[in-house]
Amino acid sequence: MDYLLTEEQKMLKEMVAKFAREEIGPVARENQEKGIFPAAIIKKAGELGLMGIAYPPEYGGAGMDYVSYMIAVEEISRYCASTGVIVSAHSSLAIDPIFRFGNEEQKKKYLPDLCSGRKIGCFALTEPGAGSDAGSTKTTAKLVGDKWILNGTKHFITNGAEADIAIIFASTDLAQKTKGISAFIVEKGTPCFNVGKHEKKLGINSTSTTELIFEECTIPKENLLGDLNKGFKVAMTTLDGGRLGICAQALGIARASIEDSIKYAKEREQFGQPIAGFQAIQWMIADMCTEYEAAWLLGYRGSLMKDKGLPYAKEAAMAKLKASEVASFCASKAIQIHGGYGYVKEFDVERYLRDAKITEIYEGTNEIMRMVVSSFALK
Ligand SMILES: Cc1cc2nc3c(=O)[nH]c(=O)nc-3n(C[C@H](O)[C@H](O)[C@H](O)COP(=O)(O)OP(=O)(O)OC[C@H]3O[C@@H](n4cnc5c(N)ncnc54)[C@H](O)[C@@H]3O)c2cc1C
Repeated sequence: MDYLLTEEQKMLKEMVAKFAREEIGPVARENQEKGIFPAAIIKKAGELGLMGIAYPPEYGGAGMDYVSYMIAVEEISRYCASTGVIVSAHSSLAIDPIFRFGNEEQKKKYLPDLCSGRKIGCFALTEPGAGSDAGSTKTTAKLVGDKWILNGTKHFITNGAEADIAIIFASTDLAQKTKGISAFIVEKGTPCFNVGKHEKKLGINSTSTTELIFEECTIPKENLLGDLNKGFKVAMTTLDGGRLGICAQALGIARASIEDSIKYAKEREQFGQPIAGFQAIQWMIADMCTEYEAAWLLGYRGSLMKDKGLPYAKEAAMAKLKASEVASFCASKAIQIHGGYGYVKEFDVERYLRDAKITEIYEGTNEIMRMVVSSFALK
């Protein structure tokens, strides 16, 4: 579907594909098995302009569009879904809210380091008791003089261990629930702000997923991001863009599953012929390709709408819903096509299935995506 892309987007795709194939692919399996955060790759991604693709050069970004950003996340995730989500959480969830809701001083202070990848960002909304129901946030922020005092625990935070800049959502008026939540920028090293438990996971094992703990943590008054008590809108708007990033991550996993399956089906012989000659295998591959292209088009539409400044919450939810289920479907079929070899770690396809599952859960579970889509359909 490259015919839908501009010349600039095609060039970017080629550049990122080469980087991913030559530098990310060769270390992906070992990094995932050992749970190593790919720091050198992220540094190089920053040098290539991939950590702030969709943001203006005046803030250190590459000045491209969201379609380009999705292309890059897909190409990276084709070889390593962990690296894909590290880039996606950093860009869509940490840079984007500062770019969209920050004042000029905040943008100038934080964006150049984030867009260049010199600093890593994270987004902390989820708490042990506030997952899908993010409005039940129990973390609090209280203004005392010219400082905010934060108390509470966030959990399951991607890039939590590495992040230099964290976007934190806290209640500034508990009684008002979603209308009493505000967003804050918290810097690593702030006293009484600590990284807690590191989760052990089914997949995306090169990423850190951690608690962030605030115990009477004091930050300057000017670190409020956006308007007081309007943080829930910051979170929801940010997640719309984030869902397109997860769609791209899922597309990368689906494509990896398809490409590896086609290669294997042509090489593996049973009953005296390549298994690609069997209709059962051909049909699985046909279904995988069809589902992938349908998901890609939904993702492309969502990012195009975002680039055009159109409302795209429904389209982002549809794209994430479809692409995540397609990733799991394609990864499962890839294992089937590989037979027993698909189930063992000699091939990458078992990792694709483990990585795919999370795309159905984070940045809003697929049940929540269906609620979003149906709320538009039934309006
Ligand atoms: C690896 C990983 C990385 C993550 N990274 C981040 C991050 O960077 N930042 C961040 O803030 N969070 C992050 N999360 C949290 C993630 O977004 C939440 O786990 C997710 O939103 C679901 O919340 P929960 O786990 O509390 O599940 P719950 O909300 O408890 O849901 C449990 C089940 O109930 C269903 N359910 C809940 N409510 C409804 C409803 N109203 N109708 C129908 N079904 C419903 C859900 O769909 C799900 O099937 C991450 C999670 C993981 C596992």
